[in-house]
Amino acid sequence: MPFSTRDLVDWDHRYLWHPFTQMQEWLAEPPLVIESGEGNYLIDTDGNRYLDGVSSLWCNVHGHRKRELDDALKAQCDRIAHSTMLGLANVPATVLAKRLVEITPDSVQRVFYSDAGATAVEIALKLALQYWSLRGEEQRTRFVSLSEAYHGDTLGAVGVGYSDAFHRFYRPVLRPSRQIRPPHYFRWIEGQTSEQALRSAIADAEQVLDACGGVTAAIIVEPLMQGAAGMWAQPPGYLPAIADLARRHGTLLICDEVATGFGRTGEMFAVQHEGVQPDMMCLGKGITGGYLPLAATMISEEIFDRFLAPHDRFEAFFHGHTYTGNPLASAVAVANLELFDSEKVLDRVRQRAGQLTALLREYCQPLPHVGDIRQWGLMAGIELVRDRERRTAYDPAERIGLHVIREARRHGVIIRPLGNVIILMPPLSITEDELDTLARVTAAAIEFATASR
Ligand SMILES: *Cc1c(COP(=O)(O)O)cnc(C)c1O
Repeated sequence: MPFSTRDLVDWDHRYLWHPFTQMQEWLAEPPLVIESGEGNYLIDTDGNRYLDGVSSLWCNVHGHRKRELDDALKAQCDRIAHSTMLGLANVPATVLAKRLVEITPDSVQRVFYSDAGATAVEIALKLALQYWSLRGEEQRTRFVSLSEAYHGDTLGAVGVGYSDAFHRFYRPVLRPSRQIRPPHYFRWIEGQTSEQALRSAIADAEQVLDACGGVTAAIIVEPLMQGAAGMWAQPPGYLPAIADLARRHGTLLICDEVATGFGRTGEMFAVQHEGVQPDMMCLGKGITGGYLPLAATMISEEIFDRFLAPHDRFEAFFHGHTYTGNPLASAVAVANLELFDSEKVLDRVRQRAGQLTALLREYCQPLPHVGDIRQWGLMAGIELVRDRERRTAYDPAERIGLHVIREARRHGVIIRPLGNVIILMPPLSITEDELDTLARVTAAAIEFATASR
């Protein structure tokens, strides 16, 4: 290896600023430097192997160095790495668009590319605003979103995913959305049964839309699972009720499937569990199997048609990014979709999801500080509590999540917490044995970290 671990650690500390990271804490210890990957494992510069328990931040699908994806990337390199979509089409982005329209719900028929989940959301929000203006309903300028929603970190996306703790510094330039309380809030915070929580959450959404439905451009939701909130699961019935409310108030429904898309929940897309037909869908993360930055906003033909006009009316959608529809990323995304068919990925996810439910019940549920376990497919959150009976949270200063993941790392498993919630989000290619290891090591780490403080 050309660089020593010691140099890399030194340069990291000297030159880098890591995302979502209090750098004062980061600089206090040497980072793990990843050099390569193999299947569902990450390998550091000293040759240590770690099970990738969070799919490299929720995006890896078929494991690392997957031959078919590597080959697709290399083959595209031999043709062209990048060419613009402003004024030109390219082969992989065109093929991918057709495939995406085929596998998403019939309600969305157009693809607008960008390069991150956040930009896919920005595009959906901007399209919604312009759509209503072009329809002569200029008053529809507000968005409705769920409390603790996460839709990315750009300013528009932060407006619909506002959290005071993270975003108070930007408040002067933000337009926070009207928030509705998710079913999780009623169940976990207020201790209602799942049934009651579902009814309360729908009633809350009805109330908000009765008040502001007429000025709402769109409702935006993460379907089935609010990932970054700490895996806040929605019971069946919630998403169709929100879709129905959107229809009744004549507003648009945007489903942000950046985390849930591409097989994660056991269907290709979460909305397909309940036959929901959104007006727009945001896709990212797993779209390239976790290889390259690419995102897509899927759009209904009704919205698309409204933008058709003579050039000199300046009603086009004036939005684009330099790497929109990048051929390398698109070629890998096409190969990613082929693997879903050839390897029957969804069948495997459903099997593994059942296995994960059983493992969590066996290893984690009995632990005294496990308060709640939430799961859809291969995305799960284990909420740790100081007192299970009273649902008392750990104080953030205790860093309980951090202690758990450190212990897991000592046993060769990489996971990441969201506050007091331990997240399990393995690649969809995880084997039966690896999933068992992931659950066992996580449970042992929870037991260790919660017992010692
Ligand atoms: C990760 C995520 C985003 C943001 O995606 P980036 O590629 O990180 O910008 C948006 N929405 C959801 C639901 C996500 O999980």
